[in-house]
Amino acid sequence: MNEADALRAAALLESAGYQPTADAQAASLLLLNTCVVRQQAEDKIHSRLRYVADLKRKNPEIVVALMGCLMGRNPRQKQAVEQHYPFVDLFLPPSDLSPLRSFLGSPASARMPGDAESEALPLPASRSGQTIVAYLPVVLGCSHACTYCVIPYRRGREQSRPAEDILAEARALTERGVRELILLGQIVDRYGLDRPGEIRLPELLRRIADLPALHRVRFLTSHPNWVTEELIETVADTPKLTPYFEIPVQAGSDAILSAMRRGYTAAEYEALLARIRQRLPSAGISTDMIVGFPGERAEDFDASLALMERVNPDMIRIAKYSPRPLTYSARHLPDNVPEEEKERRRVALERQLRRTLTAKNAPLKGRMVEILVEAVEKNGRRYGRTPDYKPVFIDHSNATPGALVQARITWAGPFSLIAEENRSS
Ligand code: SF4
Repeated sequence: MNEADALRAAALLESAGYQPTADAQAASLLLLNTCVVRQQAEDKIHSRLRYVADLKRKNPEIVVALMGCLMGRNPRQKQAVEQHYPFVDLFLPPSDLSPLRSFLGSPASARMPGDAESEALPLPASRSGQTIVAYLPVVLGCSHACTYCVIPYRRGREQSRPAEDILAEARALTERGVRELILLGQIVDRYGLDRPGEIRLPELLRRIADLPALHRVRFLTSHPNWVTEELIETVADTPKLTPYFEIPVQAGSDAILSAMRRGYTAAEYEALLARIRQRLPSAGISTDMIVGFPGERAEDFDASLALMERVNPDMIRIAKYSPRPLTYSARHLPDNVPEEEKERRRVALERQLRRTLTAKNAPLKGRMVEILVEAVEKNGRRYGRTPDYKPVFIDHSNATPGALVQARITWAGPFSLIAEENRSS
């Protein structure tokens, strides 16, 4: 979501005549997009801000803009950040570009957290050359309130965008060459539930998939309780919807899942993945895990290892628990797993993942896969992804970004693949 916000901010700046530079000292405007989902991310921002403060001291003409979850949407939080960083000129809440628009003298107000007039939405800029894959936020904020999560406090309550805006933006993106759209929401499956009369995610996905220029459509992130049979059927029946699900589980122990207030058990999660794989045997499934949550005993962590071994996901994003301000766990649950033990659990889970993915991907060698080419690497290799979201480097290919190619896997590692294009295909 942060990347989607940052690309929109970049697009707005480019439309006002700004050009990107890799040299911060040469910039006339510096915009920092911030993440506070973990302490480590927040520490990084504070250190960057010290550097930016120094630049601003040397050159007071630089405009400094601070955006995202450090600010949040709560006026008191915003005030605290403003007081703490007096050298910052512009403060932008998450997904809200209106302060930047006003600064640039743009006539329209930003629409993202609000509504309609989609032509006012700046469309994502491309990092390098043409953007083939673009994020499209469809649900902003979250109202779930898992006990460890700061997002509801910083990104506000759940808010679905109007389908007509999303479709207009999707159309505009395809006109700019985008060939894959990734619909975003903290619980993307809940799309439309907060807007009476609005269509739901399966219908939204079908309508977006109808856009002729698009090759692929994905959506993330799902919550285990909100992945419906209709959604699974829609993915199975709509060729452009990729067989890929991001469904964070966070823990394998029911005691920890309950303390996190996730709202499901490990067995229910396992049953959901079994249902998806029964209908879509080729589905790629990735998940998130937190290690070292307050009260996580050795046997709870063993349950996480065992669950991951059983469900064998295609990727796990592993995070060490860190208490986040205002959250229930920070206020009421002692952070009682020592840092070394958190690190030991993280490494153990990562090792297991490497081992299981090595075994899982090995049989792919020799197989033909369809790849959407996203970029040309410096060494001439093409880079893209399979429908189930595995990253692939393609040797000896002349394919242009945006092309769908058939390629044979020549090497399969745990986290990426190498392929040769089949020119006769
Ligand atoms: S569902 Fe996701 S975004 Fe929402 S509170 Fe839970 S972890 Fe945070």
